[in-house]
Amino acid sequence: FVPLKDIKSMTLDEISAEFSTFQVPAFRARQVYLWLRKGVTSFEQMVNIPKKLKEDLCKFFYISTVKIKKRLESKVDDTVKYLYELYDGEYIESVLMKYHHGYTVCISSQVGCRMGCSFCASGLNGLCRSLTAGEMLAQVEFAAQDNNIRVSNVVMMGMGEPLDNLNNTVRFLQLVGDLDGLGIGMRHISVSTSGLVPGIYKLMEYGFPITLSISLHAPNDAIRSAAMPINKAYNMQKLLTACRDYIQKTGRRISFEYALISGLNDSDACAEELAGRLHGMLCHVNLIPANPVAENGYKRPDPKRVQRFCSLLNSRGIVTTVRRTLGADINASCGQLRRKTLEKGSR
Ligand code: SAH
Ligand code: SF4
Repeated sequence: FVPLKDIKSMTLDEISAEFSTFQVPAFRARQVYLWLRKGVTSFEQMVNIPKKLKEDLCKFFYISTVKIKKRLESKVDDTVKYLYELYDGEYIESVLMKYHHGYTVCISSQVGCRMGCSFCASGLNGLCRSLTAGEMLAQVEFAAQDNNIRVSNVVMMGMGEPLDNLNNTVRFLQLVGDLDGLGIGMRHISVSTSGLVPGIYKLMEYGFPITLSISLHAPNDAIRSAAMPINKAYNMQKLLTACRDYIQKTGRRISFEYALISGLNDSDACAEELAGRLHGMLCHVNLIPANPVAENGYKRPDPKRVQRFCSLLNSRGIVTTVRRTLGADINASCGQLRRKTLEKGSR
């Protein structure tokens, strides 16, 4: 028994190399590659490929897909939330959001997450497995096909820690930009990390023009370590040094995510301390009123507190904005829907 190979995650060169070992001509590799970039979900759909070759392909390769289990449309905005089932019965989530500049898909990079942040629904059951690049692509393709739209931006802010799945993430970043496929350039992609410092250093070696988002959520180690276990391995000083190195190496502005949780990290003193630590960095702070997760009892601050926190940072020279909350009525923050589905035992 030979396990099937994941052909959707392969580059054209890799498919060509595979095909040459079977004496299949190179132009066939290109045809198959183009079908994959078009988002086909089976070899059957590749109509210009001879039947015999299609049958052979099925014996050695498989195409990563996502199967829709649930589609929730927000009544308050144009947000659509998807729950997908993978080939092995696992569940992941994606969200399609409409902004004035186009459509953004928020994708998952893993089933679950091993980082265990206290405020997050994705990590509550630990990590099941990482996604393939093909499974990441399939989430974007499905949302595009389902709504008959072109997706202009991708954010890797769904379930999972992208830098804990770096090789597949890099592959995804390379394939999603192909103009024969989704054609989403790296300048339109954000990769969000909880602060896996070695991953940040590996990522900067590629020099990709993506936006790196860092989930900071705290102004100091005491608060950060209490909510994010990763901070015990890589504290804020190590993390912010990695961020400075990243900015220097890539010339790209870093985006810091800061989820405001009432009474925990939303005081004036926290804003002052944060401003001090980020002083002089080429960065932008995104404030997110925390989404309540039933398991942890966290609350979001009232809008006045959020605004005050925002203006304090801005007045200290840290460019800060408050993120609009989309899809509040459909559990649009990632991890929440899968969690509900698992709880109800409907799998
Ligand atoms: N693992 C990566 C990417 C996925 S999480 C990371 O942590 O960055 C995407 C973003 O959602 C992160 O900034 C995360 O901290 C944030 N997040 C998770 N749970 C949240 C909640 N309950 N309210 C607000 N933001 C949350
Ligand atoms: Fe994982 Fe990110 Fe959630 Fe933390 S916030 S548990 S790193 S998905």
